[in-house]
Amino acid sequence: MTMHYLDANASEPLRPEARRAMLAAMDISGNPSSVHAAGRAARRIMEDAREALAVRFGGQPADLVFTSGGTEADALAVHALGQGRRVLIGATEHDAIRAAAANAEIVPVGADGLIDLSVLATMLETGPPALVCLMLANNEVGTIQPVAEAAALCRSHGALLHVDAVQGAGRLVVVMAGEGSPPTTGSGKVVGGGPSPAMTMLNTGAHSIALSSHKLGGPTGVGALLLAPEVTGIAPLIRGGGQERGRRGGTPPLTAIAGFAAAALACGDSAPLAALRDAAERAAVACGARVIGADAPRLPNTTCLALPGARADTQVIALDLDGIAVSAGAACSSGKVAASHVLQAMGLGALAGQAIRVSLPWNATQADVDAFAASYARMADRLRSPLVSRAA
Ligand code: PLP
Repeated sequence: MTMHYLDANASEPLRPEARRAMLAAMDISGNPSSVHAAGRAARRIMEDAREALAVRFGGQPADLVFTSGGTEADALAVHALGQGRRVLIGATEHDAIRAAAANAEIVPVGADGLIDLSVLATMLETGPPALVCLMLANNEVGTIQPVAEAAALCRSHGALLHVDAVQGAGRLVVVMAGEGSPPTTGSGKVVGGGPSPAMTMLNTGAHSIALSSHKLGGPTGVGALLLAPEVTGIAPLIRGGGQERGRRGGTPPLTAIAGFAAAALACGDSAPLAALRDAAERAAVACGARVIGADAPRLPNTTCLALPGARADTQVIALDLDGIAVSAGAACSSGKVAASHVLQAMGLGALAGQAIRVSLPWNATQADVDAFAASYARMADRLRSPLVSRAA
């Protein structure tokens, strides 16, 4: 059976550019902290990767801290930027933020999954200075938050903004600060080319952004926190040998870092992906599905489809039997399916347990969409017909 992987928001397939960079880096045996030639060779790979990533995302190399992934980047941001501040988080944030900011105040979202900026403004007007955590794009629904507007609001109220860009980076062009000009390094060297004009230019204006390698086609086990230049002297979450300028202890995973940078540079125009996603969506809607968050700006690769009357886990299994990998908009633990906090925050009620997430990877094809459409139609027919006949 041919497999059709449509679960990119869980993890993207490894890009060939990342694989090549990793294979080359594997031959370097030095530790980047060592002073000898092997150490210097390792350090060069790491610093080239740091520079490429920082430039790609509109920051300075010295402001990029390598972490073990998006979860640690979020945790470091909350730990370091949240010191002495109250913490506000969007209602649909990923568990990486929810767990790191356990006592946070929640900024509600509307039925479209977006925060209401006037509510955020009201929350910022009272109380001590805040750290606001807002995701760029939601992992379950793909909705894109108004982070640039939120950043302006935060800055005018003396608040800091951390943006979890894990799902948006690579699919949208994310630029931390400063507009326009092609990405150049301090030395004026262009690294990785400029953003594709077909992609969305997004000036987050944030104080920090979290990135994750495996969400943009790199390996797992590495990510980064990119800080705005004015954010200095942050307290580490993991102490150790003073690596990452004292901001994150531990020997950096050189091979993974090389793959991370190569993947980020390989991310291209996502417009073709949006066309495929739209085709998959149309096919599901024709079978009775409802597209969640359809009225909001969304990631080009993501659709969240609710099929009234059909349990999400049953849908996932039915599609899996046809070789289609998607995921439920619900977390399954101890045999119980818990409706996702994201869909509940959007006020979906019972539909929250009937939604699946289809997220196209960078290498998705028309054949994947055709297979999905055929399988979805069979499944919808099977799962809905008893309900329809019972209701009739
Ligand atoms: N933030 C968001 C929005 C995510 O979707 C994820 C992972 O799914 C994370 C953070 C955590 O990233 P990682 O898997 O690299 O720890």
